[in-house]
Amino acid sequence: MNNDMIKTNCMINQNIILTGDRPTGSLHLGHYVGSLKSRVALQHSCKQFILIADMQALTDNFERPKFIKNNILQLMAAYMSVELNPDKNIFVLQSAIPELAELTIHYMNLVHLGRLQRNPTVKHEIEQKSLENSLSIGFLCYPISQAADITAFKANLVPVGQDQVPMIEQTNEIVRKFNRLYYTNCLKECKPYLSDVSRLMGINGAEKAGKSTNNAIFLNESSKSLKEKVFSMYTDSNHIKISDPGQVEGNVVFAYLDAFYNNIEHLNELKQHYKKGGLGDVYLKKLLFDTLENFIAPVRDKYNQYSNDELLDILRTGTEIARKVAKNTLSEIRQALCLTNFKF
Ligand code: ATP
Ligand code: MG
Repeated sequence: MNNDMIKTNCMINQNIILTGDRPTGSLHLGHYVGSLKSRVALQHSCKQFILIADMQALTDNFERPKFIKNNILQLMAAYMSVELNPDKNIFVLQSAIPELAELTIHYMNLVHLGRLQRNPTVKHEIEQKSLENSLSIGFLCYPISQAADITAFKANLVPVGQDQVPMIEQTNEIVRKFNRLYYTNCLKECKPYLSDVSRLMGINGAEKAGKSTNNAIFLNESSKSLKEKVFSMYTDSNHIKISDPGQVEGNVVFAYLDAFYNNIEHLNELKQHYKKGGLGDVYLKKLLFDTLENFIAPVRDKYNQYSNDELLDILRTGTEIARKVAKNTLSEIRQALCLTNFKF
């Protein structure tokens, strides 16, 4: 099913979306093209839960809980600044819904240790964060807690970046196993909703821009710092003189132009010119800076429009609605697990 078909289906079936972010830093352009843009497009036609995964963030940040807490309202401000409408979305704070933790515990019985260790994203993150010798059970289990988040709200569509696709597979395995073992159909399978840029590379050429990896352009980046970041981007190390033929694939500047520059015809001409030789990096970086500044300037302005009290209020209202839904799901799960037979 392509994205347009999903959008049409959403309108007909009122599909349910669960998506979210870890409060581990400011949101960046990778989040925008990988997930936020889809959420903005889908908010009018689907029931959309947007989860701030503070418990998940603690799995690899347990030594700095204040840092996680301080990023929660930052995330809310970012949501408002990209026009996620508080009347059209349900914003949820993960730690305020204890039902999610209980669901996670029930699902843990259904997942083998080896399956978690083979998860390609977890494997990559363990390597990237050098957790090999200090791997906590909590971190290893975060795909299970993500399954709890998705299934608690009966979501069938999850807008995510490429790195999260293995989590959807893990979720569906749990759903199938749970329904089969306990003769129920209370859990629903889900599909990832991938945008056209499902992985934006880091400004240092790393395969993914990440907020914890210090290689991203933030949605509220100042104009000065945006310029510094764009002009320090890797291009092609063999493109030394303007007349040298250059490489487009793997070139960070072209990757960002692909994601944000709307004049496709002009971009194709630039790529041909660059490959042939005769087009300088400075010209391209100026074009990219102007393109990104045009996109970021209005977002930056909206960042500080809401007070902390207003943001907290929006989050509280959404979390109350979400908790009721999660409570219902948990009671179905408890029933399937025969945990409700005795009345205390
Ligand atoms: P952390 O480094 O703390 O894990 P992160 O930058 O990976 O932070 P998350 O909060 O884990 O951000 O991810 C939120 C959503 O944004 C996920 O759906 C993820 O797939 C997507 N996403 C994150 N980085 C990118 C990127 N560079 N390109 C496309 N999508 C991305
Ligand atoms: Mg991540």
